[in-house]
Amino acid sequence: MQPAINFGAGPSMIPQEVLKEAQEQLLDFHGNGLSIMEASHRSSMYEDIHNAAIADIRELLSIPEDFEVLFLQGGASLQFAMIPLNLYKGGVIEFVDTGTWSSKAIQEAKILGYTTRVVASSKESTYNHIPTDIHFSAEADYAYITSNNTIYGTQYKTYPDAPTPLVVDASSDIFSYPIDWSKTSLLFAGAQKNAGPSGVTIVIIKKELLDRAKENTPTMLRYDIHAQNNSLYNTPPTFAIYLLGLTMKWIKAQGGVEAIRRYNEEKAALLYNTIDQSNGFYVGHALCDSRSLMNVSFNVRGKDKALEAKLLALAEEARMIGLKGHRSVGGLRASIYNAMRKEGVAALVDLMETFAKNHR
Ligand code: PMP
Repeated sequence: MQPAINFGAGPSMIPQEVLKEAQEQLLDFHGNGLSIMEASHRSSMYEDIHNAAIADIRELLSIPEDFEVLFLQGGASLQFAMIPLNLYKGGVIEFVDTGTWSSKAIQEAKILGYTTRVVASSKESTYNHIPTDIHFSAEADYAYITSNNTIYGTQYKTYPDAPTPLVVDASSDIFSYPIDWSKTSLLFAGAQKNAGPSGVTIVIIKKELLDRAKENTPTMLRYDIHAQNNSLYNTPPTFAIYLLGLTMKWIKAQGGVEAIRRYNEEKAALLYNTIDQSNGFYVGHALCDSRSLMNVSFNVRGKDKALEAKLLALAEEARMIGLKGHRSVGGLRASIYNAMRKEGVAALVDLMETFAKNHR
């Protein structure tokens, strides 16, 4: 059966090459007579995979020596609590609120009783843009942004400058552009969009931030413990890390993150051009200069729910799945992460153009 064209927001498409390689190796990993899933996390068979995945992440993102790469669990959501537990010094944490995931991060810091300040927000306009007037202060303990807003389809073109350590939730756009490490002190991402399957979270943290955890921080929630143990303090999600490692090799084979970025720009342009040239039949949620290359959220003429349902049904008939928009914005959302081929986007664009013609 032909694979479905999966526009889901995450877990999402994994490159076919990665899945096939995993399938070939599933029962017998390199003649060891067992699956990698069954191997001890202390075996050299697994440790080689673990270390190669870290080395490939470092290479792909040109990570400087003074940063650690960690594999953690609990999803990106656990980072909303782990970051303040490890970085807060008793002052204030500054946030830009660009949607649900930033709001949740703010909420977790508040639950801990820490002082938060929102320095810029697009909440008043249903998070349809990235604020331009962002001014972080020098007194804060750290600054926090969400680089790509998975639900609203907005994305920073460059990270803002912060006089304090900048923390970036890159869950939905990691490995789609090079990172400026002179601006970024901690970057994290759940793997399930651009880096592999769910179950593992990548945390890339500047070493000088490792000694800031408070005394009463539980062991498993301390970055320094995971760093000292090469993310093998306890049993890591070995199979997820194995698949993540295969995905890193796939990104390298595509030419790395710069080549991926160019390809993604072409993919996104196909969709945004269709929206812009539809004479208002399709309306994008994000303002033009904040548009995401990863998630394209849009409505059909006047937010017509019946038309949107019809388009979704036609898409499903053509095996295009995962296009229903998040309940907070409605409409449709096409997530076109790294693994989505241009042919998949072209198929959606064809459907949208025909649909618009037939319903004018
Ligand atoms: N941050 C962003 C930007 C996300 O898109 C998501 C999930 N869609 C999360 C955080 C939460 O990730 P998880 O489900 O791994 O906790």
